[in-house]
Amino acid sequence: MRMAERMRDLGTETAFEAAARAKALEATGVDVIHLEIGEPDFDTPVNVREAAKRALDAGWTHYGPALGLPALREAIAADLNARRGLAVDPANVVVTPGAKPIMHYAITALAGPGDEVIYPDPGFPIYESMASFVGARPVPIALSEAHGFRLDVDELRSLVTDRTRLIIFNSPANPTGGVLSRADLEAIAAIAIERDIPVLADEIYGRIVYDGEHISIASLPGMAERTILLDGFSKTFAMTGWRLGFAALPPALVPAFSRLIINSVSCTSAFSQIAAVEALTGPQDAVDAMVEEFRVRRSLIVEGLNALPGVRCQLPSGAFYAFPNVSGTGMTGTEFADRMLYEGGVSVLGGSAFGRVGVDHVRVSYANSQANLRRALERMAEVLSKTPVG
Ligand code: PMP
Repeated sequence: MRMAERMRDLGTETAFEAAARAKALEATGVDVIHLEIGEPDFDTPVNVREAAKRALDAGWTHYGPALGLPALREAIAADLNARRGLAVDPANVVVTPGAKPIMHYAITALAGPGDEVIYPDPGFPIYESMASFVGARPVPIALSEAHGFRLDVDELRSLVTDRTRLIIFNSPANPTGGVLSRADLEAIAAIAIERDIPVLADEIYGRIVYDGEHISIASLPGMAERTILLDGFSKTFAMTGWRLGFAALPPALVPAFSRLIINSVSCTSAFSQIAAVEALTGPQDAVDAMVEEFRVRRSLIVEGLNALPGVRCQLPSGAFYAFPNVSGTGMTGTEFADRMLYEGGVSVLGGSAFGRVGVDHVRVSYANSQANLRRALERMAEVLSKTPVG
């Protein structure tokens, strides 16, 4: 069948392929420890599950408004305002089936052929993929290990041109766990305001921070009206399979999102949205407990990785990923990931899945039990003991 030309420019998220590869190996009887996964290993909190069941029985099984149920949009605005010091109007909140469509809609609405979209490298692969798909030029900004995986503001300034239509960043970040400082955010904001460019702030890991508070760029003066704040329920409430995301938008973008939603998915599942109100307004102890458990695992995995020959790993400040540099083993990240899977039964992702800058790294998700993390570290040590380092 003849595909439209634009399909050539559409990338993918290799995490899904790597997970399938690991599962295929598992199906042959090999024991695999999954550290490639980008989702909490916890169950959705029980109060949220119960709320969904009640909502189903109460008949929340029909189409709803394209932009989301008013009760949920209000709860999201209230939560953002309380936690992130914002003044979001529920009218500018949109609810989507997962947070990913927000990338799709924002990039589609703002960029086209000849335009440029700045995105982080290493970073979530969909930013680059979607920018290419709409015919824009994806312009990577490096997040280097030497700079604590934070972007270099001078470099950002040098990458902005008259064709820049959107600046994307993600803090806390996938795959590095890096968090931008207030000074970084202020510098990005200054550039965005000076050059009149909207930013897409992917804050999906905003509740999973280990040191200090998460700062939203939308809370800086002059930024609310130019920030697409992307967030969702997937990571915070362990709800990846529910497909529930949201954005707080500059008012001018709301009609564009509305049309894109109507043209693609119509609306987000109604009973899921009712449960999401409970997630935001009900007890938060499950979220806090999850973050505390991630904090313990973070130390375990980072110390363990640093003890492996040829591997060095910075302490991530947020999310649930470690992004060690494995170049000291003489392997690229992809080679390292392949050997760990096939010789050790440990599934991690080669860093180049997240951009060229990640080539010497692997992403290790610590959304797995402490026992499994320990076993994975032992197996990695064993594989490396069979390879002379260097
Ligand atoms: N942004 C980042 C940085 C992510 O890592 C992910 C999920 N892996 C998403 C957005 C998408 O989240 P959702 O599952 O809600 O679509």
